[in-house]
Amino acid sequence: MNIDFECTMCGNCCHDLRLPLTLAEALAWLARGNEVQVLCEALPWPEEPAADNLQAAHKRRRSFAAMSGSLPARIVVILTGAFAGPCPNLQPDMRCGIYEARPLVCRIYPAEINPFIALDPAGKACPPEAWQPGRAPLLRGGQLVDAATADLIQRSRAADSADAPAKQALCALLGIDVAALANEGFVVHSPPRAALLAALQQVNAAASVSDAAAGATGTAPEATKSDDLPVWRFASNRRATVNTLESVGALGAWVDPAGAMPFEYLGFYPAAA
Ligand code: SF4
Ligand code: SF4
Repeated sequence: MNIDFECTMCGNCCHDLRLPLTLAEALAWLARGNEVQVLCEALPWPEEPAADNLQAAHKRRRSFAAMSGSLPARIVVILTGAFAGPCPNLQPDMRCGIYEARPLVCRIYPAEINPFIALDPAGKACPPEAWQPGRAPLLRGGQLVDAATADLIQRSRAADSADAPAKQALCALLGIDVAALANEGFVVHSPPRAALLAALQQVNAAASVSDAAAGATGTAPEATKSDDLPVWRFASNRRATVNTLESVGALGAWVDPAGAMPFEYLGFYPAAA
């Protein structure tokens, strides 16, 4: 597949977002006075997949191990800069006010970070004229032409993996232990800014110390005994999902659309009692 692309500076991609951030970027985002939310999804993980299951390996790298009742699970935590309307860093002329320090995801867009998602212009915020043939080559034979963007994608994936243990510690500090079933939605936690900033600073400092002690990579081995793993609940707005999860030993949480919950549930499907 070949795709040509040039940014038209329309600013569409800087509006109404939950912008995925690395741990360091989330710290900077909060320090600028902006909001960060914590999105959580959980994957049932009854056994380790085969070594040649590349999708499972990708999910494993960016998650941490947990138990939900008697069901092993893996938890994916995504820190996001959240805003309705224009990004707080967007200037009136549609230029980025923190261009030199903008998050990786902004530098990479409209390319895809997830290696299992193919770039589809129809799914992007860019107008049709940005994709006209004859603009700068973006993909040739399905591969990114720009080596710098490819490098940014690798950095983003590496940060996603390296941040997973710190995100586990962050959730423990903040008492976050509910996630949506992966592919059904996300549970969105919105801790108070001051508490989130303090917790992020604490886990970031601990990660730096652990990096130094481990000789830079800082990837401490994961706990493997179920008693040592954090306990998480699966939330769903579909009663059948909760029932199915509970039937295999998991801890389920029914999200009643009419009820008050200490989190927001972003479901991909309509609620079903
Ligand atoms: S940080 Fe800059 S590039 Fe990223 S969404 Fe905000 S204004 Fe746009
Ligand atoms: S939506 Fe696309 S064309 Fe518009 S500013 Fe963002 S990257 Fe550029």
